[in-house]
Amino acid sequence: MISDTSDVLDFSDTELSTLDESEAEFESSSTPDYAQDYIDFTYSNPTTFHVIEYFKKKLIANGFTYIKEGEPLTEGTSGLFFSIRSNLSLVAFVKGKKWTYQKGVGVVAGHVDSLAIKLKPVSLHKSIDGYEMLGVAPYSGSMNKLWLDRDFGIGGAVYYKSGEDIKMKTIDSTPHPIAKIPKLAEHFGLDDKLANYNEETQMAPIIGYSNGHSMEKPTPEEGKSPLVDKHPIKLLRYLAKLANKPLADIVGLDLELYDVQKGHIGGLNNEFIFAPRIDDRLCSYLAILGLIRFAKSFSDEDLESYDGFNIAYLVNNEEIGSLTRTGAHGKFLNSVIAKVTQANESELNLIFANSIILSADVTHAFNPNFKECYLDKNFPIPNVGLTLKVDSNQHVMTDTVGIVVMEQVAAKNDLVLQRFHIRNDSRSGGTIGPIMATNTGSRVVDVGLPQLSMHSIRAMCGSKEVALGIATFSAFYKDWRQAYNSVEDL
Ligand code: ZN
Ligand code: ZN
Repeated sequence: MISDTSDVLDFSDTELSTLDESEAEFESSSTPDYAQDYIDFTYSNPTTFHVIEYFKKKLIANGFTYIKEGEPLTEGTSGLFFSIRSNLSLVAFVKGKKWTYQKGVGVVAGHVDSLAIKLKPVSLHKSIDGYEMLGVAPYSGSMNKLWLDRDFGIGGAVYYKSGEDIKMKTIDSTPHPIAKIPKLAEHFGLDDKLANYNEETQMAPIIGYSNGHSMEKPTPEEGKSPLVDKHPIKLLRYLAKLANKPLADIVGLDLELYDVQKGHIGGLNNEFIFAPRIDDRLCSYLAILGLIRFAKSFSDEDLESYDGFNIAYLVNNEEIGSLTRTGAHGKFLNSVIAKVTQANESELNLIFANSIILSADVTHAFNPNFKECYLDKNFPIPNVGLTLKVDSNQHVMTDTVGIVVMEQVAAKNDLVLQRFHIRNDSRSGGTIGPIMATNTGSRVVDVGLPQLSMHSIRAMCGSKEVALGIATFSAFYKDWRQAYNSVEDL
């Protein structure tokens, strides 16, 4: 599928009306609707570029105004706004006119990147006895056996000349798979459990077969693109067709291979979602939809008298350490808050001293085949509720006061919170929580919806997690301030 800003996505009342239903109605038939909306979203938006573009359109369709990062503000910023950095990171917020620095901000922060296989800047790969191959590189821990034998689509950002300007367009090949990395059959005698595939020499994707006659050459016109000597010409022509642009105008590619198969609602009673990229398109989706649900509870007049400031913050590159300008270390949140509030450094510190940030990232649901790997009474199960992540060595940031505050929000909204603590003899995973805490000084609470098969190309979670997540994050936006007042400066 191809999309750019001129495309019209269907934000019809059907989708939004599901969000308006009673938040407690998880047992009703609305659960599959929430889950199916999420599955459709992740299928149609396979890369981070697509996801940010989707949220941009969705926020605009729900009354939010776009603020360009590189331009000064020309009007007041009470109301619904959002800003985007390089199409890979996003800050969206609802700010009341009566807000003051001491009211702080309530943030749900999640990472929007997901494991993938990246197209190399030079993807030309010698063909092997007629098989046409592609030069690719892992993004985080993607190129392992879990990524063998899957149907890969290709998608991401294409940069092209438009007059004197360079523009970007998202493309993807869905539903067409263009590549596969085949496993060596067990009959060849390599012990499957011990064989350790070399990522460079044994995991090149096959993209075609031409029986040794793949000597297609670019035309002189196509040769005007700086990419023709860097990627297979057949691939470039395919991409140009997806982008609906002449190859000669295409000057840059930021593409990846992804699982092209659609997710499903599954289990005998539809208890689960089976889908790719749950880590962490799920919490990203929930943060934005939670903010939209919260925003829809206001009329314009309400915002005049509202004294709160609530934010959804999506960052890139968590899976590779966050040390990028679109990652959590890039401090996009800090710069947007400073710009919107015109606060000086001391005033910014005052804001953060009165704030709570939820670091929202999926966590490990209990796996029934490996009970011994979990700490008894400290693991989440599907379809129950958001999980508070706790760790004595603070790989995650949740502290006791944060738990007390979140339990107050949950109790007020009839929501259940679960707990996750890793065993002493296991290693705890990381989140953006510590980065958010050290970048701001704010209290950070690490939370997440539970999933199974984290970092596999295909994962699963409960089908109620989508409805639960939207309800919990919108409840947080609504009630965190009052709950935080009760603990004063603890
Ligand atoms: Zn991850
Ligand atoms: Zn994650």
